[in-house]
Order: sequence, then structure tokens, then C-alpha cells
Amino acid sequence: MSDIRSIDELDAKGKKVLVRVDFNAPVDDDGNVTDDTRIRAALPTVRKLVDDGARVILTSHRGRPAGEGYEEDFSLAPIAERLQELIGRDVALSRDIVGPDVQNAADALNDGDIMMLENIRFDKREKKNDPEFARQLASLADAYVNDAFGTAHRAHASTAGVAEILPAYAGYLMQREVDMLTGMLDDPKRPFVAILGGSKVSDKIKVIDALMDKADVLVIGGGMCFTFLLAQGYGVGSSLKEDDWVDAARDMLDAAEAKGVRMLLPVDVVVADAFANDARTEVVAVDAIPDDMMGLDIGPETAKLYSDAIADAASVFWNGPMGVFEMPSFEAGTKAVAEAVAANEAADTIIGGGDSVAAVNKFDLADAMTFISTGGGASMELVQGEKLPGVEALR
Ligand code: ADP
Ligand code: MG
Repeated sequence: MSDIRSIDELDAKGKKVLVRVDFNAPVDDDGNVTDDTRIRAALPTVRKLVDDGARVILTSHRGRPAGEGYEEDFSLAPIAERLQELIGRDVALSRDIVGPDVQNAADALNDGDIMMLENIRFDKREKKNDPEFARQLASLADAYVNDAFGTAHRAHASTAGVAEILPAYAGYLMQREVDMLTGMLDDPKRPFVAILGGSKVSDKIKVIDALMDKADVLVIGGGMCFTFLLAQGYGVGSSLKEDDWVDAARDMLDAAEAKGVRMLLPVDVVVADAFANDARTEVVAVDAIPDDMMGLDIGPETAKLYSDAIADAASVFWNGPMGVFEMPSFEAGTKAVAEAVAANEAADTIIGGGDSVAAVNKFDLADAMTFISTGGGASMELVQGEKLPGVEALR
């Protein structure tokens, strides 16, 4: 399907393979990994290499260290420990990322052994994609596998630089992300319904633009719907709005009409007198938003309208919550949409974006979706039609 080189083409036996993973998992104050989703996501790739008799050298970032060397708060030690439990093998953590000590440790690996380099961002040359740093990193191994889709939109030494030096392959997670996202965008089953929400139009303008050329129906919710409602001539009270983007929103409404894309906007909203779960709330039609109140969710009629459109879809892409779903008082719209997507079992359904994925997990509907992207920013850039340095390097 895709033209990136797969790990299945790598003859890994006896080779030292540098594997870029995204092990940026949350860790609590006691050093316990509180959500190991990202570690589990890379297991198929790591297992495959171990089973093939590769000598695996894992590299990842975690958090935002200063880049001036080791910092305990950002160490990968808790991650190495959890991986060890999950995979049932020793995972040796190397304090050094490059240099003679780690070179020796890599050379001493046996077939099937796993070592992990400390947080790659302890060295500030990583984010600069410093060529000398990339060269030193590459010198540890015979081949390179990138399974860190979540950082594929960054041209760093461990995501792009090394791939130019070593033979480079996509891990299974990377492959699946690229296949699923580009597959749906290149050749969606129709009707293709794209649902876009979240906070700001300015954040999502490129995604909306890109989907305008692909989707049959564009469903708009979340904070950004108020800028569209302004463009339609409604008052939006104290809702989140971006005055500078009203013209762009109007252009999009026109473009949708010209292209024959059905654009769905809210017909009713849940308004509140404060940005708080215990605020006084009311459901109002979009032409009756009180001046002193803010819209924090789509209303029930809108949820019904959107759910009906989703029920008719053959493929669905969803990014961005419909309301402030983090507060129970404003979660109903997002929940209704999530349930509608989950209920359409025949459709291909893809969820992208950090908060959208969190919402689907909150409502315990992840298993009902075809694919949940782990990518966040990387998935959005791919959907926007941008070339991701970490993916391009594997072509
Ligand atoms: P994603 O991470 O899925 O791409 P975004 O980051 O764009 O999504 O947006 C998610 C945020 O948008 C959530 O924190 C949510 O509370 C907020 N949001 C949704 N609707 C509204 C609204 N009506 N007013 C203010 N914020 C909103
Ligand atoms: Mg977000």
C-alpha cells in the first residue's frame, strides 16, 4: 500500500539495529509508568527483531529536558523497567547516548539482546539534527528502524539524520499509521464524513482545507464552530472566537458550497455563564446565544443531526472534541458523536488528535474504532498533506 520500506524487508539476524521508538510515557512521582500505551504500541516491532536474532538498541525521548546532559526527572529508567516486564527480557539502560562506552556495550550485545539509550534529548544536538551527532548515533548500529510515528514530523537526528546514514526501515506501528491515514485520505470509502472540532479554527485551518477536497460531509463542532457561526452572521456571546479568522471561515463555507461538500454546523448549543463544570447552563438555538454566556458544547439537536450523518458514512475521520468534554456538564456532544462513530460498525473509522483520542478512551469506545492514531501532531500534519521528515526518510 505505502511505498515506505518495511521492517519485513530487513534481514536482522546478528545485526545491531537502532530502533527509534516513542516511549514518552507518563511517569508518576514514584517513578511508575502510569500509562504504558506507547510502550505496548512498539512491542510488535521489538519482538519481531528479538525473534529474528537482532541486537536491539532502542532510542527514545521523554519529556522536555534542558539538553545539557542527564536529568533524573527525564530518565528512561522507569520505561526500561516496564519494557522489561512487558517483553520478559533484560533491557540494559545505557547512561551514555554516544561515545566509546556505549559503542563497546553495543558491540558486546548478543543476538536477541536489548539495550536502551538514555533520553536522546539529554543531548541538545538531537533536536538540531546535528550531522556529527547523527553520525555517532548511526555508528552504533548496522541498520535503523523508525517506529516513532509520534515524532515523525520532527527532523531530529534520531528521526531523520540517522536514516540518511543507515539502511532505514519502518516499524510496524509506523507502517500502520502511515497506511491507515494515507489510505483513508487517498481512497476513502464514500460517503466520507470528516468531523472536526477542538478549540481553534487557526489550529485546524489546514486540516479543514485538506479535508475539503476529500470529504463528502464536513461536520464542525467544538470551540471553532463559533468562528463559523460568526461568519454566518450569528452572535456568539462570550464563546471562544477568533475574529481574525471569520473571513477565512466564510471562505470555507463558500468553498464547501462550490465543491458540493455538505458542511454541518451546530443548530443548537449548550451555553454556560462561566467556564466551569458547575456553571449555570442552558440549551439555546444558535440564533439565540445570550451576550453574556459562552457555548461549551453542541446541543442535543445538533448531536442528533451529526449522529445521523455519521450513521450514513462509509468512512469517518474524526479530530477534535465537540465541546469541553473534560467537564461532565459539557461532555454530551462529544460522547454522542463518539457513540455514533462507534455504532457504525460497517464504516472505516479513524480517530486522530491527542484530545480526541482521550475523549474516545474516556467513553471507553476505543475498541469499537477501526484505528486510533497515536500520532497527535504527526497525524494532523500527514492529514494536511505535509511531508513528514521521519516518514520521507524511509522512502
Ligand atoms: P485534538 O487534541 O483532538 O486535536 P484540540 O487540541 O484541537 O483537539 O482541542 C481540544 C480542546 O478543545 C479540549 O481541551 C476542549 O476542552 C476544547 N474545546 C472544545 N470545545 C470547546 C468550546 N466550545 N470552548 C472552549 N474550548 C473547547
Ligand atoms: Mg489537543
